[in-house]
Amino acid sequence: MYELDLAQYKLSRFPGSMLEVLTYPHTILSKKSIPITEKDFNNDLFELAKDMLYTMYLSPGVGLAAPQVGKSIQMFVMDVDFNRIDLSAPDIENTEDTENDDNYNNNTEAIETAANSTPTSPLSSDQICTKFSAFLAEAKNKDKDYDLIDHYIYSDFAPTVLINPAIVANEGQIKYKEGCLSLPGVYEEVERSQKVVVEYLDLNSKKKVLAAEGLQAVCIQHELDHLNGIVLIERLSFLKKGLHQKRLKKLKKQKQK
Ligand SMILES: [Zn+2]
Repeated sequence: MYELDLAQYKLSRFPGSMLEVLTYPHTILSKKSIPITEKDFNNDLFELAKDMLYTMYLSPGVGLAAPQVGKSIQMFVMDVDFNRIDLSAPDIENTEDTENDDNYNNNTEAIETAANSTPTSPLSSDQICTKFSAFLAEAKNKDKDYDLIDHYIYSDFAPTVLINPAIVANEGQIKYKEGCLSLPGVYEEVERSQKVVVEYLDLNSKKKVLAAEGLQAVCIQHELDHLNGIVLIERLSFLKKGLHQKRLKKLKKQKQK
């Protein structure tokens, strides 16, 4: 009944609305969230999951937990597979400067191909637009899951909604530099289990089991922490925590001005 229609995500725009992501130290972020009961599986829950996915993709992030958008319930969304290609970043006249930047590689390649086929550079802005349109059209023809929102192409979606999740098995250790939409500017290495098995309910209240490893396992553990009222910063050393707290406080004050 509440299946997320993946095809919708392949249309020109994602469905959903942008939600406000609460930042540390908001009190909701440190509260343990409550399990979702049978009666809660309704259209409101579906709409919330949809908006959370929308917010996650556009932020962009690989996971988002309900407490981060002010709902103290046990649900999070994740997608560690999607790609986001920034079309607006590289300057066509300076492609050499951005050549080594991983983030722009796909994009730069496309532009370089375009630039190489026309020796009379620099291209005018009209020509650049034409090249981009051609690039997009070609991508669509290849039947890849490309999606264009403003200046970005999104692809390879695997949206997942996890309700009342619980890790039932874990194995190994992994150190991964994590970030969090609720902690702007914080990227710190945290040790987690390398593999986890998580049991959860989907949007239809159907029991699911997911065996994850690497980034996906890290993401699951990070989001589960949110449901238990633990923010990434709590996992850092006393010293690092203190430094980030100071900086985040300053940032909040600046924003309020
Ligand atoms: Zn987070």
